[in-house]
Amino acid sequence: MNKTFMPTFQSLDELKEHQLKGLQWTTSHAYKGSGFYKKLMDDSGVSPEDIHTLDDIQRLPFTSAEDLRKGYPFPLLSVPESEIVRIHASSGTTGKRKVLTYTHKDVEDWGHFFARCYEMAELSPEDRVQIAVGYGVWTAGVGFQLGCERFGAMALPIGPGNIDMQCQFLVDLQSTVMCCTASMALLMAEEIERRRLKDKITLKKMIFGSERSSHAMRQRIKNLLGLEDMYDITGMTELYGPGTGLECSRHEGIHYWADYYLLEILDPETLKPVSEGEIGEMVVTTLCKEASPLIRYRTRDLTRMIPSACSCGSLLPMHDSILGRSDDMIIFRAVNIYPGQIDEVLSSIPEISCEYQVVVDRESDGRDTMTLRVECGSDTDAEKAKALEAEICRKIKNSIMVSCEVELLETCSLPRSERKSKRVFDNRPE
Ligand code: ZN
Repeated sequence: MNKTFMPTFQSLDELKEHQLKGLQWTTSHAYKGSGFYKKLMDDSGVSPEDIHTLDDIQRLPFTSAEDLRKGYPFPLLSVPESEIVRIHASSGTTGKRKVLTYTHKDVEDWGHFFARCYEMAELSPEDRVQIAVGYGVWTAGVGFQLGCERFGAMALPIGPGNIDMQCQFLVDLQSTVMCCTASMALLMAEEIERRRLKDKITLKKMIFGSERSSHAMRQRIKNLLGLEDMYDITGMTELYGPGTGLECSRHEGIHYWADYYLLEILDPETLKPVSEGEIGEMVVTTLCKEASPLIRYRTRDLTRMIPSACSCGSLLPMHDSILGRSDDMIIFRAVNIYPGQIDEVLSSIPEISCEYQVVVDRESDGRDTMTLRVECGSDTDAEKAKALEAEICRKIKNSIMVSCEVELLETCSLPRSERKSKRVFDNRPE
């Protein structure tokens, strides 16, 4: 393979130089091209000429999903409409969709760094990539396909669901890579086992978008399918789409494309940087996005920066997997809990299966209770079950500092999803 999509900088200083130029370009481009950004910066008393160092980013105002809705249909637009070659929109469950615009260069850039994801996952042009994520106005399918074609592998654009067709393509076309949500991967793995197709397929790798995959879930998928490796990919519509970062085969964190955007990890309350390695909200600023540039965009996604360099030798920095959205946080008996933390605890217990639900209720005496509904392995007898329940309670107490009830269920008794699984059920009155 002679094509490479990895960045060319040789040192972190070189990267920082590139980032500063990108930050200066973005602020001045947005200021000149967008009435919204001009007013925002004027109101905050900052101008593009004030950006002399990367730390000066802290002088810039924040943007949020609310700004995208207010600017409907073309929020943040910083180029003449004639330069737009494409739009995408988020599936938006409430109110207006978020519509994002792309110039020709934006689409090119997206394809380039998405191809980098496939390169980092060590694919080759021989690979056949079954794309089982949504096609349409949203960015998922189109993004995975754009990157695949740019990379030079074969794209099989199937879309989500349609298990019969997925299985047929895996057998007849011998797909080697599948891109889907982790929930869909679990469903596929269990289906392939049920249909006894494992020996007829040549699937080697899976790439999981749009929801985090827990260690336990990955282990089950890997075993059922005999996979070589699995990777979490990150991305959001506002920031081009999927493909803005990927964990490498060392699995020490998610490398993110620091040559395309700046990532700040901030305390969601104070909006100041958290201490090194602490959990906070991801805030992103694009470095070369033309049509809808982002300046300090609050993603609501929570993660932590990984301070050490990856053993793979890449200079691209890493953040941890996404621990959830600040909106998904459960406040339980004055403790802030993210679903990702429960995932981590459950994944440390090998005897349980990988699906779970968190149910929060309010009792008649006003006390809040939390019940974890957990699938256990098929060989769990009554005595083992009792020990398991105690172990889960103890580990949750130790790591999250709350008491919970545990309800053990048989393997495969919780619902499986082709998209994202709903795992938190907060039944308390508003
Ligand atoms: Zn690495």
